[in-house]
Amino acid sequence: MNPPFSTFPTVLLVLLFGTFGCKDVSDNVPIREANFQPPTNPVERFGLMWEGLDIDSGIVAPGQSLSHILRPAGMNAGQITLLAQATNEEYDVRNMRSGKPWWIAFTRDSLPKPAHFIYQRNAREYARFSLQEPYSVALESLPADTLIQRTIGTIENSLSVDLERLGAPTTLALAMANVYAWTVDFSRLQKGDAFDVMYERTYINGEPMGMPRVIACHFQHRGRELPAFRFDQGEGFDYFDDAGQSLRKAFLKAPVEFSRISSRYNLKRFHPILQKTKAHYGTDYAAPKGTPILAVGDGMVSKSSYTKGNGKYVKIRHNNTYETQYLHMSRRAVSAGQNVKQGQVIGYVGSTGLATGPHVCFRFWKNGKQVDHLREDFPPSTPIQQDQMEAFQATVQDLSAAIAKLVPATK
Ligand SMILES: [Zn+2]
Repeated sequence: MNPPFSTFPTVLLVLLFGTFGCKDVSDNVPIREANFQPPTNPVERFGLMWEGLDIDSGIVAPGQSLSHILRPAGMNAGQITLLAQATNEEYDVRNMRSGKPWWIAFTRDSLPKPAHFIYQRNAREYARFSLQEPYSVALESLPADTLIQRTIGTIENSLSVDLERLGAPTTLALAMANVYAWTVDFSRLQKGDAFDVMYERTYINGEPMGMPRVIACHFQHRGRELPAFRFDQGEGFDYFDDAGQSLRKAFLKAPVEFSRISSRYNLKRFHPILQKTKAHYGTDYAAPKGTPILAVGDGMVSKSSYTKGNGKYVKIRHNNTYETQYLHMSRRAVSAGQNVKQGQVIGYVGSTGLATGPHVCFRFWKNGKQVDHLREDFPPSTPIQQDQMEAFQATVQDLSAAIAKLVPATK
């Protein structure tokens, strides 16, 4: 594979990784070989020396009970009853469900005897029964491997298509979109945008479990460098740029200063003009005609238009997740396609469309649906605190060195 960053000026590579020196990766960042694959046929399995046993296996069929599985293996009804009684307190065998895998391990004697029965309760947990007296059961978990990988690429198609081409999980696109939800609109990526991402994933028995988790990422979007580093400063993991600023941005609380809320988001509102129940998908802020209306966040104007109901209105796309819309303007101050900054005047309060008096009906869209923004729980966007800064900077150095050392996985 051609490293896509080779199309970048060398100086950029130096900027990305070169300034951090060659500090060793700290112990809490377990870096594995990028192409490491957990063994699929290990010597030890389910806590048993698997290779010394003869194995029968299957899937619990609908209506099948423990005795349906163990009798063909050579256990009689009395033994199975004793086994169920002896283990009932730790694991009730009636909880076994169809569709789950099981294994019977036989001793390798001249007369093989069933020694262990393993029932996999879920992806992680299993019950291991001892089929020889004294009967017992142990509830255990499969060992999980955390594999850290790196993928470098440029956008040729869409992020998920390009990730697949590079042999990375497509779900990584979702994880990256979450990291950059407030800064990059992933529906508007450009050809030539580039990324270098280090992520971790949990593997059980060689199978990936759950979503990949971004550890550090460099995204180059429309010529802008957007580094992201994962760090926990006591409130759980969050993502920060290299200066310690949170990648999340807060929206303005309201699109107009000095206003009052005249009507809240209400799915069963009685409409004052239509004289019937009609859902109100916005929050109305009453203010004198001509009061400036402000963009609540950075974004791009997706619509600046007029309809009979909305009157003159503006809609702004902030990122992949959020859009906002401002109705009943007396005048619009921006046009579609224009980039706007938080706090920028985008229009003026009026009562065009279906409105009884001058106000702005503020609509908050989340993933294409209108929601009550006053009930949205926005996570904090606190930057790295002073007392955490040293630890954060050390982590940035460690992660940057770690990325540089990882060979990107290829197909
Ligand atoms: Zn309204």
